[in-house]
Amino acid sequence: MPTDIDVAANLKAVRDRIDAAAIAANRDPATVSLIAVSKTHDAPRIFPAIAAGHTIFGENRVQEAQAKWPPLRAAHPACRLHLIGPLQTNKVRDAVALFDVIETLDRLKLARALSDACQRSERAVACFIQVNTGEEPQKAGVAPLDAPELIDQCREMDGLNVVGLMCIPPQDEEPSPHFALLADIAARHGLPRLSMGMSADFETGITFGATDVRVGTAVFGPRGTKAGLDG
Ligand SMILES: *Cc1c(COP(=O)(O)O)cnc(C)c1O
Repeated sequence: MPTDIDVAANLKAVRDRIDAAAIAANRDPATVSLIAVSKTHDAPRIFPAIAAGHTIFGENRVQEAQAKWPPLRAAHPACRLHLIGPLQTNKVRDAVALFDVIETLDRLKLARALSDACQRSERAVACFIQVNTGEEPQKAGVAPLDAPELIDQCREMDGLNVVGLMCIPPQDEEPSPHFALLADIAARHGLPRLSMGMSADFETGITFGATDVRVGTAVFGPRGTKAGLDG
């Protein structure tokens, strides 16, 4: 593990940039949460973030989070975990047991499984519906044209608490139109939260109304080679 990464200093620098972007957009900085994306990083890299008082983390794989987070959460009950990677229906019960927020609800079958698991468990889990704003075939998320129907169906399901929308714009495109589209769909459906923006573009996300930004590299440093974006 390289020792030249100062996670606490990085967190502060990112938080300062978030606050500045919010103020520039005439928004209250307190309305933007920083999700520190700790995927692929082990507990010793995560400790300094927790020690610095950070409580919101993102992971993209259920199995990896199950291996890493139960002891961290037991020691630090204030921590909150977001699932930001694709979710298979056979992992839904595990995900509901571990995560506080599931950002990758993108199909009816998954919504039904989540609704079921949320009703059985005692835990209050919030969901974002992931929209594939770039309509990329390899990427998860509901197509923009199909989003209204899925949003309506999810909102009618018992136990599902849909709070907002999430997107991952295509890597090689200017993210602004994608953020604008997501914000537009959310506004038309009265959904208050928008998860959009990563290390390279979180300030743009905030300009377009992001309430949740998912920042990994700028906080924890570079990941290993196998750590690409999922879905
Ligand atoms: C990995 C990941 C991030 C964080 O990406 P960085 O560029 O390292 O900030 C954000 N969102 C999702 C869905 C991810 O998988």
